[in-house]
Amino acid sequence: MKRTNYAGRTSEEQIGQEVVVKGWVAKRRNLGGLIFIDLWDREGIVQLVFNEEEDQAAFEVANQARNQYILEARGLVRARAEVNPDIATGKIEIEVKEANILAKSQTPPFEVQDDVDASEDLRLKYRYVDLRRPKMMNYLKLRSKVTSVVHNYFDNNDFMDIETPELTRSTPEGARDYIVPSRVYPGHFYALPQSPQLFKQLLMAAGVDKYYQIAKCFRDEDLRGDRQPEFTQIDTEMSFAEPEEIQEMAEGLIKRVMKEAVGVDVPTPFPRMQWQEAMDKYGSDKPDTRFDMLIQDVSDLVKDSSFKVFSATVEAGNFVRAIVVSGGADKYSRKDITKKEDYIKRYGAKGLAWVKVTEEGYNGPVAKFLNDDASALNERLDAKVGDLILFVAGSFHVVCDSLGYLRESIAAEMELIDEDKFNYLWVVNWPMFEYDEGFGKWIAAHHPFTMLNEDDLHYLEEGEDPHKAHAQSYDIVLNGNEIGGGSIRIHDPEVQEKVFKALGYTKETAQSRFGFLIKALENGMPPEGGMAFGLDRWVMLLAHADSIRDVIAFPKNSKAVEPLTAAPGTVDDEQLDVLHLTIQEKGTDDAE
Ligand code: ASP
Repeated sequence: MKRTNYAGRTSEEQIGQEVVVKGWVAKRRNLGGLIFIDLWDREGIVQLVFNEEEDQAAFEVANQARNQYILEARGLVRARAEVNPDIATGKIEIEVKEANILAKSQTPPFEVQDDVDASEDLRLKYRYVDLRRPKMMNYLKLRSKVTSVVHNYFDNNDFMDIETPELTRSTPEGARDYIVPSRVYPGHFYALPQSPQLFKQLLMAAGVDKYYQIAKCFRDEDLRGDRQPEFTQIDTEMSFAEPEEIQEMAEGLIKRVMKEAVGVDVPTPFPRMQWQEAMDKYGSDKPDTRFDMLIQDVSDLVKDSSFKVFSATVEAGNFVRAIVVSGGADKYSRKDITKKEDYIKRYGAKGLAWVKVTEEGYNGPVAKFLNDDASALNERLDAKVGDLILFVAGSFHVVCDSLGYLRESIAAEMELIDEDKFNYLWVVNWPMFEYDEGFGKWIAAHHPFTMLNEDDLHYLEEGEDPHKAHAQSYDIVLNGNEIGGGSIRIHDPEVQEKVFKALGYTKETAQSRFGFLIKALENGMPPEGGMAFGLDRWVMLLAHADSIRDVIAFPKNSKAVEPLTAAPGTVDDEQLDVLHLTIQEKGTDDAE
């Protein structure tokens, strides 16, 4: 039997016609001489009707069919007596004349429906069953639509789609590399790319002018919430481009993806926010602008406060900042606030000072110290009776990280966020370097190939402080998530060498790791820049999915294990020998 159409696309226009559909049994109801089967394929479901009196053989097939069996069915499309408004094919059904079982299925490991009651690992182990859930199939479809718009958009705008190597040297984006041992060169390793960064720069040196690629990237980092060891970037680079041209190009892409894949018009250009403003007002370099509750500085108002924690903080050159939770006095108990206080200690906060605004003045453990300054504070903060004010004192990063977290978690708890909004914005003018507490050293905030602001180049000179420099870099943010970022690149070998030096590379290390790049900069490198989007995270947000794993066909779980194939696995001694490797402590089992 030749399939005539997708089951889920069977339409009213086909009433009276004969169709052949093939798919999985999603539901089966036996009413004696009548069996109804919901047949599922990637486009949805259609109701099949088997009538024992009319089509004995087909009825027998339906009788044997079980959940997730695969059937082919030939029959007549007819109008339903009772319309089901919940499904697209709810006005019709197929009166089956002939049917066959194409494949049987064991009882599925979990109910194949959107509201699934199974652990994520079980779902990942039987991912092919999991992906039959309509919600999951829709995520895959959305992702496919987005990438199709991406290819189309770049193709229409003169970009060339070029692949770059997966087996390469380390490309530093600030994470650990996945490495692959070389069989031919004992003791030598390839690294999987953290991004195509250096290759796309070399493509500009080659004169490609406009490049894009949907590229796999690999970063061996601890897996937090929406990260994956391997993920996908929409990667792009343009020669002779100013930051605004790159941003306009990206806005054009976003606009088309929003229109064609999501059906939403987003106005462009998107707002540009200085990095400093994002940090000061939102406590985050990826501000969520769907709600206000902005952070405000009150250091000047509390510098002489009898509350020593505040006055000593300001004295030490640090900050006291606050957010006002409008109507939060009733909503948040002392216990709730203590929980929040415990949480922000991970950002280095010593404590969380708070007051509730009442008709009689401030209320709360530190109210007695702050009541003297209450009117000035209320005016600055625009705080009213019934509000809760949360203060954090400390260094710039402690204050930003803590209040940034409080702002977001409280907005979620108080349901202040309009989930239908898509707020895109650019965060621009980043610092070139940032101090990494974990590594205990200065690292590039973006990556080491980012061009500084022209006016800040002098900070790289002897005797100056390079850490004051800002960069020509930009991030694109959607609803409080970074979905991409990029920069103008250094194309002058001398500047590049100075940046390596500021990052603590000796001349020798810089040469041995990046000699090939410096050579390219010395051999006709155009001024250029670009950016990359994190495709997985972007699709997750567009889909309103719960996790990045939902929009990846075969993701790793939160322990970096891929439960379907149980990767990573051990290999046998022979394979190790060929690669000249010995394992000091061998695990016995594959990851499960
Ligand atoms: N390679 C950068 C990244 O992965 C993006 C860029 O600068 O184009 O973040």
